[in-house]
Amino acid sequence: MDRKTLGSMLQKEKEELEVRVAKIDRDFGNRKISKQFDEQSVERENDQVLVNLELEAKEELKAIEVALARIDSEYFDRCASCGETISDARLEAVPHATLCIDCAQ
Ligand SMILES: [Zn+2]
Repeated sequence: MDRKTLGSMLQKEKEELEVRVAKIDRDFGNRKISKQFDEQSVERENDQVLVNLELEAKEELKAIEVALARIDSEYFDRCASCGETISDARLEAVPHATLCIDCAQ
């Protein structure tokens, strides 16, 4: 895959994730504290789901930053472990992948 294509895919992925994180933050902000204990425990479960989703999104953002930092190097499409070129199919599925499919497994 060429540098430009991968770079714009990463940029797009990053923007989508930032929107997702902002939406989660907004969901937290909009939440009203319920007085009913039952509802509170349901809300706590929902909170946990949101926290996990946000953590996941932030982990992915970090990985995208790493991949974006690599984009100007000659290794931008190389596996960080074995040095082989990462396949187009894999980069299309996971633009921020820094390992080839074999090393990732
Ligand atoms: Zn590899």
